[in-house]
Amino acid sequence: MKKMAEFKALMEKARQVRMEVVLESLGSNSSEKERNKWHCPAHGGTSFHVWPESNRGQCFGCNLTSGRNVDPLGLLMATRRIGFVEAVEQLTGVVRTSGGQNNQVQRVTKKRQTKRITPCPEMNSRIYYHLFNIASGQDQSAGKIYLEGRGIPWEWAHSRFGLTWLQDPKIAFDILNDNYWNEEIESSGLVNSRGGFGYWFPLLLVPYFDGDYIVDIEGLIKKEDRGRNMNEDVKSLALKGIPRHLWGLNHISKGGEAVLVEGVIDALSVMRLTGEENVIAVPGVGQIEKVLQPKIGLLAHLRVLADRDEHGEGFSKQLRDQLAFKFPNVEITLNRYPEGLNDANEWLMKKTLIAA
Ligand SMILES: [Zn+2]
Repeated sequence: MKKMAEFKALMEKARQVRMEVVLESLGSNSSEKERNKWHCPAHGGTSFHVWPESNRGQCFGCNLTSGRNVDPLGLLMATRRIGFVEAVEQLTGVVRTSGGQNNQVQRVTKKRQTKRITPCPEMNSRIYYHLFNIASGQDQSAGKIYLEGRGIPWEWAHSRFGLTWLQDPKIAFDILNDNYWNEEIESSGLVNSRGGFGYWFPLLLVPYFDGDYIVDIEGLIKKEDRGRNMNEDVKSLALKGIPRHLWGLNHISKGGEAVLVEGVIDALSVMRLTGEENVIAVPGVGQIEKVLQPKIGLLAHLRVLADRDEHGEGFSKQLRDQLAFKFPNVEITLNRYPEGLNDANEWLMKKTLIAA
């Protein structure tokens, strides 16, 4: 009866997989506000309670766990509608020699056990392109409303600069999980500190190109959605563990001139205002060192157009000093927005109003 003993050992191993890990692998996130509450993998609400001591959980918002508390096996069986043996195999990462569905198995058990793959730009870029492809196949209308509400034509931003609305993160993450190893997705920075998809609610994905590579992605949160899933002053989500870049590195030409603004929306706004594409954006005024990238040194002239507020002013001055030190050959001019306008998007919106 060696087989039986083996299976019992596997079963015990499966029961010891943390509920939290199983929930994450099912695409759920913990509630930001309440301890031990999770988004239910079936109905999505935050009424899934986890008891860490007993490693059991129950949804109080739907019938997923049939009103009982379940262990990791029970949760996986209920959510994936699979049998007991299959659940044990998935949770313990048993690979069936005949089966093909092994990615999902790895997803549950390999978390944090295997050593990390060093991030590799080529591989990351491949995953990012894939994510953009998946997202652009989803409903783009919320992205269109977002941008056009700020005076920026959707078709232009989408086709020219690759801005893409991610309407259904869960589907996107499932597809990525089926196509890449867990470690590959983790090292691409798409997974947050809780182990779930970093972009876990609908938002606008902005690719940062360097040549043909996508080197960074920023997830812009729609104004109406701010404060709903995250703290209110969080306007965008960055990749985890991936160094931030400048947006618009491809718009820098050797010996040319460029305008530097705060954020992609302002960069696009300046392009609409001037009709020129030599605009780059820093992902936030706290990120001065991001500006000091070698490509900047190629420029003959850089105009800095930071927001007309305290942060913007401080940023401009510090940047001027640091650039002068690092790239003494680049001429730097500090510009300001016209009186009464705080940033480029306000400027664009005002012009649009006048023109209308
Ligand atoms: Zn539920």
